[in-house]
Amino acid sequence: MIVILFGPPGCGKGTQAKILSNAIGCPHLSTGDMLREAVELSTKTGKLAAEVMAKGKLVSDGIVANIIQERTGQKDCNQGFILDGFPRTIPQAKKLDKIIEGRGLVINAVIEFGVRDSKLVNRIIGRFTCKNCGASYNDATLKPKLENACDICGSRDFIRRKDDNEKTAMARIKAYHCETEPLLPYYRDKKILNSIDGLAPIKTVTEQILDLVKKIR
Ligand code: AMP
Repeated sequence: MIVILFGPPGCGKGTQAKILSNAIGCPHLSTGDMLREAVELSTKTGKLAAEVMAKGKLVSDGIVANIIQERTGQKDCNQGFILDGFPRTIPQAKKLDKIIEGRGLVINAVIEFGVRDSKLVNRIIGRFTCKNCGASYNDATLKPKLENACDICGSRDFIRRKDDNEKTAMARIKAYHCETEPLLPYYRDKKILNSIDGLAPIKTVTEQILDLVKKIR
């Protein structure tokens, strides 16, 4: 099954992609995670992307399309995958269609997370993850049960993304409205667009997504 989780930064698609990936057994592909890894490793792609990412702008279509072409060609993607943060422009969506058609597959669903702008910045600047196991938390909505210790592995080592600051968050929200939102009519015309309430509690959002996925399976 191929599912695209779609929405502005901070809408919760990364959190839900991890849950859905475990639930349906398909890999979670986040272009943001892949780019951050490239920056960390200082690869050629990482060097090209670092400055753009720090400004909250979009990395070039060519770079991200290549990353997705390569990653979706790996064996664990044969039965499908969950896309988080890709596509973000019309050219990326068209490239994705070509990649998927070429493999004889289809996009089963695009799930749009509705969250209004006024809620996004606080959600973005509040988030942090466990450095050891990757569990996600948020100052505003999901603190660890014990202060400063991960609920899952007990580690006290947490990390925050460099681009999760107010200035960059605003630029990322702007990029979403200008460059990514125009994809909504693109997928509505293909009759694969579904919308959910991204402001609901995490568990309720998961239920909405799993209900949708059951219907299309
Ligand atoms: P994310 O983790 O999805 O919030 O992405 C973090 C940053 O990576 C974005 O602000 C962009 O600079 C870059 N990025 C991630 N995915 C894409 C994409 N599909 N197209 C362009 N830039 C992207």
